[in-house]
Amino acid sequence: MARRPVVEVEHLSVGYMTPRGLATAVDDVSFTIYENEIVGVVGESGCGKSTLANAVMRLLGPGAYVTGGRIRVDGQDVYRMQPEALRQFRWTTMSMVFQSAMNVLNPVKTVASHFEDTFLAHVPNMSKREIADRAAELLRLVRIDPSRLRSYPHELSGGMRQRVVIAIAIALSPRFVIMDEPTTALDVVVQRSILESIMELQGQIGFSVLFISHDINLVTAISNRVGVMYAGRLVELSEAAFDASGGFHHPYTQGLLRAIPKLAVGEDEIEGIPGSPPSPFDMPSGCSFHPRCPYRKPECSMRKPPLVVAENYQVECHLTPAERRGELHVH
Ligand code: SF4
Repeated sequence: MARRPVVEVEHLSVGYMTPRGLATAVDDVSFTIYENEIVGVVGESGCGKSTLANAVMRLLGPGAYVTGGRIRVDGQDVYRMQPEALRQFRWTTMSMVFQSAMNVLNPVKTVASHFEDTFLAHVPNMSKREIADRAAELLRLVRIDPSRLRSYPHELSGGMRQRVVIAIAIALSPRFVIMDEPTTALDVVVQRSILESIMELQGQIGFSVLFISHDINLVTAISNRVGVMYAGRLVELSEAAFDASGGFHHPYTQGLLRAIPKLAVGEDEIEGIPGSPPSPFDMPSGCSFHPRCPYRKPECSMRKPPLVVAENYQVECHLTPAERRGELHVH
């Protein structure tokens, strides 16, 4: 059965106007997210992943501009919508969980009034009773006792606050939710339990997710497919390899995997990726990863790598499939 696309990003480019000129943060990125699918996007800071998330939500900050391409969510071109239509569209069709719950929740409002604000902005004829019942139901879904509706944000732990933010994001049953580093500030145990909740909710309610993180382990654990960004480009998009043992194809992705600390005694020490990402004002020629790539070939610095599309993955790299198998997957 054909899968139904919910998010279609086509040749998206986003730049920041700076005193030195336009800095490209997202460079010709295309991907589709299907119904009930979780697509993770991973990369080092500054790779363009949060700019991508904000562009999809049409929430780019001052100085940032979409310089090319198109974004459709549930068939609607996000950048052609009038402001009122966009306001309604947000939270009812697409919503977002931001990185820091503390910046999203108003410290002088109870959890209940956050739900009231959300519902009344979109469903003005909802009664107080209906809102309270639905808010209690949503809190139960994210494993919080409904008695917490009376709490203020500072009375909740960091994990609980983030769960409240997730409950608000799904309050109006959106078809698509962007999660931008939703667990970054939390400890590992809380992180894991929130991820489990997200997967549970997604399974029960059924919505598509764009999950942004710098942590490839986390992204691989939660996503159906994983996109990898480097210097503004989506250099790989692959089915998530749950054992992280070589299901990825780009040398940069392999570097991210090798940079994961290993817990077992006697395992190799972590290897960072040498060097640092390039400045948008001084992009290397050819493949922008070539100065850091242990597998680079002469053509890597001369020509942009082709986009290779296979059944379960797509990758931008000059290595042939045989070279990738031989060089990358032997580790
Ligand atoms: Fe490395 Fe060349 Fe592939 Fe770029 S194109 S990732 S430099 S092998």
